[in-house]
Amino acid sequence: VSPADSLVHALRRAVAEAPERTFLAYFDGRLSYREADELSDSVAGHLAARGLERGDRVAVLLQNSPHCVLAVLGAWKAGAVVVPVNPMYKSGEVAHVLRDGEVAALVCSDRAWEAYLRDTARDSPVRVALTACELDFQTRGDQRVLGFDRLPPAADADDLTAVARAGHRAPEGREPGPGDLALISYTSGTSGTPKGATNTHGNIMHNAERQRTGLGLPAAPVYFALAPLFHITGMVCEFGACLNSAGTLALAYRFEAGVVLDAFAEHRPHYTVGPSTAFMALAARPEATRDHFASFRVISSGGAPLPPALVEKFRAGFGPYIRNGYGLTECTAPCASVPPHREAPVDPVSGTLAVGVPGPDTVVRIVDEAGEEVPFGEQGEIVVRGPQVVPGYWRRPDATAETFPGGELRTGDIGFMDERGWLYVVDRKKDMINASGFKVWPREVEDVLYTHPAVREAAVVGVPDGYRGETVKAYISLRPDAATDPDELAEYCRERLAAYKYPRQVEILPDLPKTASGKILRRELRSRTRDNR
Ligand code: ATP
Repeated sequence: VSPADSLVHALRRAVAEAPERTFLAYFDGRLSYREADELSDSVAGHLAARGLERGDRVAVLLQNSPHCVLAVLGAWKAGAVVVPVNPMYKSGEVAHVLRDGEVAALVCSDRAWEAYLRDTARDSPVRVALTACELDFQTRGDQRVLGFDRLPPAADADDLTAVARAGHRAPEGREPGPGDLALISYTSGTSGTPKGATNTHGNIMHNAERQRTGLGLPAAPVYFALAPLFHITGMVCEFGACLNSAGTLALAYRFEAGVVLDAFAEHRPHYTVGPSTAFMALAARPEATRDHFASFRVISSGGAPLPPALVEKFRAGFGPYIRNGYGLTECTAPCASVPPHREAPVDPVSGTLAVGVPGPDTVVRIVDEAGEEVPFGEQGEIVVRGPQVVPGYWRRPDATAETFPGGELRTGDIGFMDERGWLYVVDRKKDMINASGFKVWPREVEDVLYTHPAVREAAVVGVPDGYRGETVKAYISLRPDAATDPDELAEYCRERLAAYKYPRQVEILPDLPKTASGKILRRELRSRTRDNR
């Protein structure tokens, strides 16, 4: 089979090969390849009829449901670019994405539309709204799992399921090519305001193709979507790789360990990928048995450090070996992973498990401050060149030039390569906090804290956490005569930021440590936490 140009092309190929094969399995609901093709055609036809043109942006804020897949495929068939957004985002976070991405259409749950997105969209470029009740397409009607009721249809939005079932024809001549943008994936960064990495269809297909040919899965494999589809790993390594293999994608709304184990028993998946904490949570369930994991051929972990002790405990308790993988949104998920039939070595000095070896056509180099390559075993910044590296950030030439000099991705991660070509990630140059694979950039949280009237100075750092790996902590100094306390400040952030971003710990100090030039010394605050442990 020759590689597909895009996932739309892969869908056409799968429909031709096995129209009645189950593509999406969602609780008791099933959609075949033929049905998903027809339903997403209809979504595309609707978007085109509502004036969406090639290259327009469609934001999708949905959990792991068939609706999310149909919205993404429908947008691509209409020639649009998908902007996946975490549905946990609060109004201010979504507003930035809608404005910066100049988003023309929004797809979200009916509840989020009623609760806040209608208001958020009002002052934005959004012209078309589609709302979804993620109960549709599953026959069990099991509100124990999804935990919500169907709302009456909104007057100012169209219902995604109704639109999908309306039988509209997809517009012609809009099929994307490998150089076209598929996604604008917003990630934060040192600047505080999130910027969009522009993943092309070619970027996605490189990694989806690698997964199809390189994992040793059986024909028509069953994938389980453990990572969220709004995240690049879910989009590419679950949805993309599954569709590219004409396999079955089992979905379970959002991660809940008990529900996921039930889904494993029901769907018998061959492959899944998630952050290491998801495997910890599954292993901790009293009902988890070896049988739950017996169908897996490959289990991958990515997005956060994978402790070697977890790999061994998991293998001893449940059978499978968890394969490490390393990537960033800017390289469309993985750029290095542990090949099948091999096991990653542990570095004897640092105790770190290797993340893998670079994928085909991918060059990973370790460089010093001057950009010179360092010898094997020596630490430096990890830089990546390859067909999965995005062309840059959306409308941000300066940030693009800084992060992608000469087309090579400067990851901001510190690592080394051993003589056999295994890559290790040991630290970060960037200030990012990694809480269970969810990335938090201090500037974004600090910017919120600075809007609080009592705050004089704010510095946010990651502190060690037994379960999440890291958790968010804010150090604050107050304005004279200001009256507030740590709980009030944490609550202030919780109202304005997605749940994984707000500081779980807040400490008020008379003054924050600074350099001679007045810059807050984040490193000192970080080591202060370590020393106090
Ligand atoms: P992945 O594709 O591996 O899931 P991601 O999709 O989570 O990564 P981002 O949210 O952009 O992508 O985060 C990328 C950052 O996550 C990296 O720069 C690195 O700091 C961290 N990271 C990713 N994989 C690993 C790993 N296996 N070990 C340690 N850190 C990792």
